Amino acid sequence: MDTRNYRGEIKQKENHISGLYIKRTALGSAVGLLWIGEKISFRGARSQVRANAENRIQAINADIHSAAQEANHLKQIATDVEAREGELAQCVRCNTMFRSKFGGALPGNAVDVMGSNHDLARQGWLCQDCWPMASEVYNNIMAYYGAHVGITQKRFIPGYRIVADGGMITTEGEFDSVEDVKSALHLLAARCMANACVCFWPERHEDSVVDGYGPRGNPHYRTIVTFSGRAQAVRVEPDMWVGP
Ligand SMILES: [Zn+2]
Repeated sequence: MDTRNYRGEIKQKENHISGLYIKRTALGSAVGLLWIGEKISFRGARSQVRANAENRIQAINADIHSAAQEANHLKQIATDVEAREGELAQCVRCNTMFRSKFGGALPGNAVDVMGSNHDLARQGWLCQDCWPMASEVYNNIMAYYGAHVGITQKRFIPGYRIVADGGMITTEGEFDSVEDVKSALHLLAARCMANACVCFWPERHEDSVVDGYGPRGNPHYRTIVTFSGRAQAVRVEPDMWVGP
C-alpha cells in the first residue's frame, strides 16, 4: 500500500513554483528600472548588474520549468495510485494514514448501536486494522438486535431454551415508559450478544418538582413519573424438543 501523501507534495511543489514566479517578477522589474537608469546614465557597471539579473531570471525560468515537470509527474503518480488504492485518509481511531480502499467507515448509527463508551465506535474513516474489528462488533450487535426474541419477567421464554448467559443488564438513566425501558434493555442485551431478556424487573420512580407558586408564594408541586429497569440478558434457541 502506497501511503505517500502525493497531494501534500504536489502542494509544496506548487508553492515553490509560485515563490519562484514572485522572485522572477521582482527581478524583472529591477531589470526594467536598471534599463531605464542605464539609458539615462550610460554607466558600464549598470550593464553588468543588468546582465547578472537577466542570468538569474534565466536560471529561475529553468527552475520553474523543472519544478512544473516534477509536479506534473507527481500528479500522474497520484492519479494512478488513487485509482488503484483510493485517496489518502487518516484513521479516526489510531491516526494511521492509509489508502481508503483498504479501510472503511461504520454506518451513521454506529455510536448509538455500539454505545459511546465503546473504543471501536467511531464516526469517520477507519484503517485496514481498525475497520474489520469495528464492523465485526457492529454487525454482531445488529444481528443480535434483529434476532431479539423478547423480554419477560419470567425466568424463561416459552418455546426457547437458554444457551448462554450474558449477565445482568441495567438501564442508564430513566425513561418515560416501561416500553422505553424494554427498548433500552433490548439494545443492551444485543451488545452482550444476547437475543432475549428474562427476569425483567421494571422500577417506577416518582419525583415531586416545583411547578409554580401561588399568590402567597406557596409552591405548587407536580409529580413526575419515570421508569428504569434491569434484566438478565440471555442467548436463546428455539426448543426443538417434540413430545413422543
Ligand atoms: Zn486505525
